[in-house]
Amino acid sequence: MVVIGGGIAGYTAALAARRHGADVTLIARAPGATALYAGGMEIVDDLDTVLRSPNHPLTRLGMDAVGLATELDAAVSTLQLALGKEGLRFEGTWRSRGLYADIHGLARPANVVPDTVARGELGALSGKRVAVIGVPQVGDYDAASTAQALKELHGIEAFAEDISISDLPVAASLTDLYGRRAPAPKARGAAIAYPPGFTSLPDDSFELLASPPSPHGWRLQQAIGLGAVGAEITSFETAADTVIAAHSATRGFRADAFVLATGRHIGGGLQAGRVTAERLFGLGIFRDGVPAAQSGARLHLLKYLDPAEEMRLGVKTDKRLHPLLEDGTAPYANLYAAGAVLGGYDYAGPCGFGVPILTGWLAGRYAAKSA
Ligand SMILES: Cc1cc2nc3c(=O)[nH]c(=O)nc-3n(C[C@H](O)[C@H](O)[C@H](O)COP(=O)(O)OP(=O)(O)OC[C@H]3O[C@@H](n4cnc5c(N)ncnc54)[C@H](O)[C@@H]3O)c2cc1C
Repeated sequence: MVVIGGGIAGYTAALAARRHGADVTLIARAPGATALYAGGMEIVDDLDTVLRSPNHPLTRLGMDAVGLATELDAAVSTLQLALGKEGLRFEGTWRSRGLYADIHGLARPANVVPDTVARGELGALSGKRVAVIGVPQVGDYDAASTAQALKELHGIEAFAEDISISDLPVAASLTDLYGRRAPAPKARGAAIAYPPGFTSLPDDSFELLASPPSPHGWRLQQAIGLGAVGAEITSFETAADTVIAAHSATRGFRADAFVLATGRHIGGGLQAGRVTAERLFGLGIFRDGVPAAQSGARLHLLKYLDPAEEMRLGVKTDKRLHPLLEDGTAPYANLYAAGAVLGGYDYAGPCGFGVPILTGWLAGRYAAKSA
């Protein structure tokens, strides 16, 4: 079986397929959106709300809330176990939800977070003193304003503590902290908030969520990318309703079943333009269940006013995750689609990781069974 895409959807698809006995080749061109996530996985907020949206990719799976919950339990716990084996420990479940501060002190909701972030859940910090560590040599982060935001927005007794790191390059940025040992703070009796990227954090400390480029995303991407073959798929060989092989410039990958987990614009699965296109198969691009091409020029203008318009566009599938052409037919019986290449949901919303994880999980299983 072949999975195209090295983000969280492709990784979860490969994981599920291997559990069902498939021999999987995972192909990735480059890091995609997964490598940029802020550090908190938003899986799902409320399943009943999701199920009221007929074009949401999870609704289109044709399961009820109990079925979706059962699959989410299995997918998220298996994923956490697999990431733990790669050295990345996560806490939380899709049923739990917390609020975590980013480097600007703004709160973001998340269901599953790295264990280094979990200790900074804002509710749990209430009543505690929090020292926000700053590094004066770093120009794109200001601990004093983060501490002020934590105080003003979340009522947390936060204060900044600057620690100088003398061997940083001139005009250093947060990325220069990545992989360094966390400097020891002077503050005593307080929880310690570090900008993301340090290693060996002391007890009672936590990492803030990131803005891109994200140390949390980079750690995750490195863990999930270990077994991937680096190649860009540019074409396919097909016969009647079957995909036979995927081709890069130099290699062919033959398989019985294929999972398309190529992501949205950042991953490269969709190409924005006057008309958004799916790059590899010319699949239909839908908006609210209707072919986007039917929206004419108006959609093209709308997306300049509100990027969310463009971000809801994407591929649509049948219940078994076979992607559809614009006329609503599924062209290939052994092709499955998963992750952010799918449309019909708010990519930057409460299912940011939930759609890639669950559709990846099911696409991997369906593909393995069909293979
Ligand atoms: C800046 C940013 C911050 C975000 N923060 C959060 C967050 O904090 N919480 C949250 O829940 N969600 C967040 N999201 C959303 C979330 O990151 C994405 O929905 C999710 O990572 C998508 O995963 P994916 O595997 O579908 O796609 P991607 O991670 O984009 O992976 C697509 C993969 O396909 C590969 N690919 C594409 N075309 C080809 C080809 N032709 N050949 C070979 N490989 C190919 C790419 O190289 C890449 O490896 C964020 C998104 C962005 C952009």
